[in-house]
Amino acid sequence: MGYRITLIPGDGIGPEITEVTKRCIEAAGVDIDWDVQQAGESALEKYGTPIPDGALESIAKNKVCLKAPLTTPVGSGFRSVNVYIRQRFNLYVCLRPFKFYEGVRSRYSGLNMVVVRENMEDLYSGIEFEKGKEETRELIRFIKDKTGKETGEDAGISIKPISVANSERIVRFAFEYAMKNRRKKVTAVHKANIMKFTDGLFLDVARKVAAEYTDIKFEDRIVDNMAMQLVQKPELYDVLVCPNLYGDILSDLCAGLVGGLGLSPGANIGEDIAVFEATHGSAPKYKGLNKVNPAALLLAGIMMLDYIGESEKASKIEQALAGVIREGKNLTYDFRDPGEKNCVGTREMGEAIVDRLK
Ligand code: NAD
Repeated sequence: MGYRITLIPGDGIGPEITEVTKRCIEAAGVDIDWDVQQAGESALEKYGTPIPDGALESIAKNKVCLKAPLTTPVGSGFRSVNVYIRQRFNLYVCLRPFKFYEGVRSRYSGLNMVVVRENMEDLYSGIEFEKGKEETRELIRFIKDKTGKETGEDAGISIKPISVANSERIVRFAFEYAMKNRRKKVTAVHKANIMKFTDGLFLDVARKVAAEYTDIKFEDRIVDNMAMQLVQKPELYDVLVCPNLYGDILSDLCAGLVGGLGLSPGANIGEDIAVFEATHGSAPKYKGLNKVNPAALLLAGIMMLDYIGESEKASKIEQALAGVIREGKNLTYDFRDPGEKNCVGTREMGEAIVDRLK
């Protein structure tokens, strides 16, 4: 009896890259009984909601989900279905590995970094006050009374909560990950010099947790300096642990260092539930064109296999993918310089990976 795992093929290019990922996992010999569920735009059309109860129940029951990109339906009442899923299942870690594969077009080679991003709070908590509303004016008056600080009457306000509990568990996750994966260093990213009560708290907590892990080196960087360092000397970094917003931005920066979003997987992990995804969107303009790179979702599938204990098969698929990239013959358009014609489609790149798994 195989694993029962929720599969959300998603919108736009989602179904095409999902098919490749399924084929590769099957070819590697992992028996998965996929519980296929709809979410996003396709679900909105069919069920009137972008996140039907059936999909939520399936994730809650199976505890592991592989999710292709979802189009955020405009006017559905959801800011983002992805953010909703993270909040609903308390998936407090966003884990994003960035690894260079030989053959990828990039200014850097040999990189192998991980960003551990806090997923629940910070400016993503969704506590916002719209310009001009009565409650916003009330808040502006409250701030003036308590701090003497003037906020323009025409300001909108977003709240940035950072708590000890959430900071502690994300930093602890980063160190545990470093230990398990034989990483050498954790770097905490912050802007504690300016935001003393939020980022300052995050840094204090990070220092305390770091003191318990004497085998792993610890350092911290202010986020703007971190951005520059990552461009100038990314090879100095190993595991970055970041509050939500900095983690979001630096993750895409790191994706750019190793070949772009087409090669960038992510995992959203909670206490006992995990959702694995490609970090790019649904690229609607390429829907059905057999054009895009399937690697990000496949790499997410590889992370998922690792998570469920199928590390050997995960590594086999990763080697097959790395082999196809290194060989350079069966690659999608995004591996080439703009205008170059020698590329293949999503399916063909997938079949080249499957051939190496036979
Ligand atoms: P996008 O990532 O879908 O596409 C931006 C561009 O990146 C594409 O036009 C394409 O050139 C390139 N690209 C993306 N994936 C690629 C791949 N696998 N191979 C090659 N090239 C690729 O971003 P967008 O256009 O801003 O968003 C489209 C929709 O996706 C929106 O509704 C957005 O809300 C949603 N979205 C979903 C997720 C998710 O589900 N995790 C993430 C980001 C955006």
